Amino acid sequence: MKVKILIANWKMNKNLKDGLVLANAINKKITNTKSKKFIILPSIHSVNYIKQNIKKSILIGAQDCSPFLKGAYTGDVSAKMIKSIGCKFTLIGHSERRIYNNETNKLLLEKVCRANEAGLKIIFCVGETIEDFKKNNSLKVLKKQLTGIFGTNYNFNNLIIAYEPVWAIGTNKTPQIADIKKTHDFIKLFFKKNYKFSDIPVLYGGSVNSQNSKEIFSLECVNGGLVGGASLIAREFIKIYDTL
Ligand code: PEP
Repeated sequence: MKVKILIANWKMNKNLKDGLVLANAINKKITNTKSKKFIILPSIHSVNYIKQNIKKSILIGAQDCSPFLKGAYTGDVSAKMIKSIGCKFTLIGHSERRIYNNETNKLLLEKVCRANEAGLKIIFCVGETIEDFKKNNSLKVLKKQLTGIFGTNYNFNNLIIAYEPVWAIGTNKTPQIADIKKTHDFIKLFFKKNYKFSDIPVLYGGSVNSQNSKEIFSLECVNGGLVGGASLIAREFIKIYDTL
């Protein structure tokens, strides 16, 4: 049975106290099992605090990592540092970072290398803009975003892909179910064809809530979800987890 994964991306929300309250509220109601897992990505400042004070162990990750190993890179947090505070995962390539921080494929490749060297599992985000979607260019964009990022000897067991159409993030809009199937199938086939890896987990992200999650997760090619806004409300996140 393939494991189903739900990821909470808190972005730049929640202070130490509120983050811990939210993590505890979620953790009280749902539990990681062999077949169903949830991962929380708080802002990096609160990871240690949550880890130290949470009532029950939790899977936790960072929202980004530095492309550099160590040294004079003011403001950066290295993959090794992220690992040392108890993170098992890091998100790389979120569209907000691609857009607001001008992150290119070249930079993302470096981040992937550093995270891999540090032993972090990677959640790698891809997704097209509304312009590309309207021009029917979604698959072309996904191919470009995935090409040249992973070496042939990469450990693909440590990789999760999150398909997040940029136009669906925080907008209350989601693609048609047939479009979600098409993109997820395409991503899975990309890894099968290029790396002979047929088991890549692909999560859907973009305005997932407790009303639409059941239908999205019912697709066999969808291995779970990456949730932003709705993950900030414990009740809502738990409801979504129940539909996995
Ligand atoms: C995200 O930013 O990763 C995301 C999926 O956000 P939202 O659920 O708010 O659309």
